[in-house]
Amino acid sequence: MVKNIFLALGLTLPLIGCVTTTSPVATTKNYSVDSDTYQSTGKSQRIKTIVLHYTVSDNERSIKTLTTGNVSAHYLILDKNDDKIYNLVPESERAWHAGEGGFSGRTILNDTSIGIEIVNAGIKPEYRDALKNGDMDYHPYEHYVAFDGLQIKKVAQLVQDIARRYDISPKNIIGHADMAPSRKIDPGAKFPWERLYFDYGIGAWYNEADKQEIMNRRTLVAPSVQEIKQAFRKYGYQINNSDEWDKPSRDVIYAFQLHFRPQQPTGNMDSETYAILQALNMKYASRDDFY
Ligand SMILES: [Zn+2]
Repeated sequence: MVKNIFLALGLTLPLIGCVTTTSPVATTKNYSVDSDTYQSTGKSQRIKTIVLHYTVSDNERSIKTLTTGNVSAHYLILDKNDDKIYNLVPESERAWHAGEGGFSGRTILNDTSIGIEIVNAGIKPEYRDALKNGDMDYHPYEHYVAFDGLQIKKVAQLVQDIARRYDISPKNIIGHADMAPSRKIDPGAKFPWERLYFDYGIGAWYNEADKQEIMNRRTLVAPSVQEIKQAFRKYGYQINNSDEWDKPSRDVIYAFQLHFRPQQPTGNMDSETYAILQALNMKYASRDDFY
């Protein structure tokens, strides 16, 4: 009917779209927010985890990838001799750095973590194809490119600051590999977790004496695969339920070794690796709050 009337008035068809019948949006405000009178005690920080990465490319390409693509990070630390750290995503927003995986019982870590990208080439160019012919499953320590000293100082001070502000528990300061062991190996074997712990009080590390004591115990029965996997879960790693050290399970061992025994990352379970895992579980509570 409306159309006919418009046509009868001699108006052209495109104008028909302008005929609308919306009611006005209410603008009167009937509430005020009082943030002072009552306060809840049951609350905690939204940020629970810090995930460290390396970019596997140079300064220029890292900037381009992290600022124009569909991957990002809260912070970027270039391989440059200056005091700058670039903040690419506000801490209050999600950066797209973690992807699938989990740690400490949390998945979708982009929701609850701060991501820090460090410019580093990762595996040395001459070793990039080393796993392709099937002679080895995992890169040894020597294949990784060392980090620049100033970069590490900047990472350490930034992590210190973030961890303090959000009260992040030491074992939730992790590498990308720790949360996604079958997809990622960054920040690699040359990221100095031990130095960060001893020089800056950052992250988790085991007591050497506990490790030695555990290794010296004479046990008659070797721990079962399931027992060892349970110890990984207790610490926070996601690991499958199979009764063997299949590839996904060995990926977890490798990620753990990259972090806690970086000079010998093999992907194979051995008594020292298990002793380190047990020593960590002795020292750190199994889970943080889940509310
Ligand atoms: Zn990463």
